[in-house]
Amino acid sequence: MNNPFQNAMTQLDKVAKIKNFGEEFIARLRQPNRDIRISIPVKMDNGSLRIFEGYRVEYNNALGPYKGGIRYHPDTEINEVKALAFWMTLKCAVVKIPMGGSKGGVTVDPKDLSKGELEKLSRGWVQKLSDILGPYKDVPAPDVNTTPEIMDWIADEYEKITGDTSGAMITGKSIGKGGSEGRGTATAQGGFYVFETIRAEARLPQKCKIVIQGFGNVGLNAAEIFEAHGHSVIAISDSRGGVYDENGLDIQKLKEHKKKTGALKGFINSKNITNEELLESECDLLIPAAFENRITDANANKIQAKAVLELANGPTTPEADEILFKKGIPVIPDILANSGGVIVSYFEWDQNLKGQHWSETEVFDKLKPMLEDSAKKILEKARESNTYLRMGAFILALERIKEKMGG
Ligand code: GLU
Repeated sequence: MNNPFQNAMTQLDKVAKIKNFGEEFIARLRQPNRDIRISIPVKMDNGSLRIFEGYRVEYNNALGPYKGGIRYHPDTEINEVKALAFWMTLKCAVVKIPMGGSKGGVTVDPKDLSKGELEKLSRGWVQKLSDILGPYKDVPAPDVNTTPEIMDWIADEYEKITGDTSGAMITGKSIGKGGSEGRGTATAQGGFYVFETIRAEARLPQKCKIVIQGFGNVGLNAAEIFEAHGHSVIAISDSRGGVYDENGLDIQKLKEHKKKTGALKGFINSKNITNEELLESECDLLIPAAFENRITDANANKIQAKAVLELANGPTTPEADEILFKKGIPVIPDILANSGGVIVSYFEWDQNLKGQHWSETEVFDKLKPMLEDSAKKILEKARESNTYLRMGAFILALERIKEKMGG
């Protein structure tokens, strides 16, 4: 399996062949400004000491303070964090927010930890990194397995260390602790606005049959939002497999089923399917909302969706991109499709610094036109260069970054 950073660099090489950005500029983007590895000792509940490995990669800050989430996952490692930080840099540029790109993480399965241990780990992460973080330096946020509660612990620890009470050093906090309305659903909601903008262009019907990989914050919220707008979610999965019903799943009932039984399988009227079967199901729109490297050269030929909306980061490999392009299946790229999360994070940072609190309506009224505008620009860029949408998005982002960096 390709490491995600290699994939990211292959994407960069491809865009450099489509448009001449100059060798020096591309060379500067092949390395992060800095990548930091830390060790986090945690006294466990049973009295033993465990040392966890943590990361922060600050990729590029030409457009503003570094911005990007923190991931807690057993497979998290430096190459993944570097790739995610690179994509954050482009994501912020694509949607024109004044932020750079970074990412953080810890190699850990949070399910193995008690709440107290998780809190110590999170406080330990910021203790080691407090000197490089800050509202105008580097602003973390949630990502896979990290919640508003974890953001609150980190904000509190940072405030204790530095005395900064603005709360603007981290986003995705709970509403009572300076979080923004709408942040919890922003990634999925943003994806929906992008879908609506591109739907006709992608030749998708008014009412789509949707398949979603992932039942976390993003996958589940997307299922609810698409269902509420009259689309039909015919399959959805978590890491252990999924369920399929060609007449459409009832997402509320499925949520209750998972809560009761701990799994998706065995849901009434539906067929159990594997994650591989799910990706290859016939549908209008496939939404990967889990991890990197899920659509690869091994399965891209078998994809039967009419279009792909990437709510995960990096779910499609560069080889799969080429295959899907040849098959005429548009892939709406992650750095546009899932950017609603970081845009509302930027709104949270802005509200914290101004001492404001916006309503959810205000937040989504600001979010929607930003995504519509970026989606249209990306379509234009892709058309101009006769390439696929990811390359259109890369061109738009790199033009904006280059304008600031020169070179
Ligand atoms: N982790 C999210 C992402 O990958 C959000 C980052 C943020 O809000 O800063 O885009």
